Amino acid sequence: MDQQSIATGRLALDDATVQDFTASLRGGVLRPTDEGYDEARKIHNGMIERRPTLIARCAGVADVITSIRFARDQRLLVSVRGGGHSIPGFSVCDGGLMIDLSRMRGVRVDAARETVRAEGGVTWGDFDHETQAFGLATTGGVARPTGIAGLTLGGGHGFLMRKHGLACDNLLSVDLVTAEGHLLTASADEHADLFWGLRGGGGNFGIATSFEYQLHHLGPILGGMLIYPLARAKEIFRIYRDVTSAAPDEVNLIFALATLPDGTQAAGVLGCYAGSVADGERVLGPLRASGPLLADQLGPIPYTALQSIPENFNPPGMRNYWKSDYLTQLSDDAIDLLVEEYPSVPAPYTHVIIEQMGGAVSRIREDDTAVSHRDARYNAAIIGMWAEPAEDERTIGWVRRLWESLRPFTSGGVYVNYQMADEGEDRLRGAYGPEKYERLVALKDKYDPTNLFRLNQNIRPTATV
Ligand SMILES: Cc1cc2nc3c(=O)[nH]c(=O)nc-3n(C[C@H](O)[C@H](O)[C@H](O)COP(=O)(O)OP(=O)(O)OC[C@H]3O[C@@H](n4cnc5c(N)ncnc54)[C@H](O)[C@@H]3O)c2cc1C
Repeated sequence: MDQQSIATGRLALDDATVQDFTASLRGGVLRPTDEGYDEARKIHNGMIERRPTLIARCAGVADVITSIRFARDQRLLVSVRGGGHSIPGFSVCDGGLMIDLSRMRGVRVDAARETVRAEGGVTWGDFDHETQAFGLATTGGVARPTGIAGLTLGGGHGFLMRKHGLACDNLLSVDLVTAEGHLLTASADEHADLFWGLRGGGGNFGIATSFEYQLHHLGPILGGMLIYPLARAKEIFRIYRDVTSAAPDEVNLIFALATLPDGTQAAGVLGCYAGSVADGERVLGPLRASGPLLADQLGPIPYTALQSIPENFNPPGMRNYWKSDYLTQLSDDAIDLLVEEYPSVPAPYTHVIIEQMGGAVSRIREDDTAVSHRDARYNAAIIGMWAEPAEDERTIGWVRRLWESLRPFTSGGVYVNYQMADEGEDRLRGAYGPEKYERLVALKDKYDPTNLFRLNQNIRPTATV
């Protein structure tokens, strides 16, 4: 037997053990010397440079079960990759086993029941492509390459959330492999405690191999983007506040301060009226009636076209550092602060967004899911993005300073999917509130007491490892 060993961060694996593991998976295993390894370990955030000892390229549920059992037997650190868009980089580990679901991309629409089952490696681009073929949709992330798994398990903001709730509010069931390697289904009727925690509690309790969602009819919508000179940003921000505060559930708009490809700083409003185009023109009219625009790209479009806009502002491989908090309201002072600070942004891809919350999100009872802060009217996210490592300190510093200045206007609660790894347990407790946090700890004790699934916004079990 070849005794060449592989460092795992915890112990060494001999070659035969790795070969046996590789042979037991339908999707195969990548080692650092294999072709494709570097591509497979890369995720959206270019700052994350980690090298797993092995990458399990799961092709289905059996591969996920085998990978979990192997990781437990060999006492390996585990990371789970869905769509690879975690900004803190939780989907890839240094040493250990990366359980990669990116080949599990099956989507099956049941048009009669208006439901869909989608595997754990599906992206929102895959999902919308398949569901819109039947004129159906549900709330999902606004950028096509983002994974349904991480996004849904953390809550799930998107353009349809005011009409249909968060992505996780549309879940009907989740197939999940536990830390012990058992497949179970969580729904309102089976493992209901787990189903509660999977709707907001992240990847803490197991690996979701597929998700079943409720779908809704959605035809062409009024959607797109309006771009204004930065000089009009304060005025447009206030119009945005007026339109969004009186809006029906069909309206979902993001306000942005961003830099255009030619270097011009600008304000923008991106979003949709998910209803009749004529009604949308009337409701969103004030946003274009008031004066000169740099670009008017708002019109009747397919939902999939709207979903393809934000990725232009979020290219893969850029270095990312985000700070975020929910806002109880959008005051004049908060508006003035953001508009006055944006011109000093050190990196052109860095942008600030305000997401409009409310509607159906706030009508779902706080106790129904692990998601908190459902009463927030808006969410602010400062999206630091740049290319060069030499710019890390300057851009991260700018993002942090702006976020600190914004604190008087925020609720103090963060959306877990926008939380960074450096924010600490207090912020995580604040994200859920003390009672929900304790309920999540109890679930962790029940489903993952050894904290196998720790690379996420980690809820630590009582007997923390
Ligand atoms: C460009 C961009 C756009 C975004 N847009 C939105 C948006 O519109 N709305 C929104 O709400 N959020 C958005 N986000 C944030 C997004 O919700 C999170 O980054 C989310 O974690 C991404 O999920 P993923 O599967 O792509 O990520 P991954 O990095 O693969 O995983 C994220 C976390 O989930 C865990 N995980 C992944 N798959 C599984 C699984 N199958 N079972 C159990 N755990 C799993 C991972 O271990 C990790 O902890 C965006 C992020 C980016 C970078």
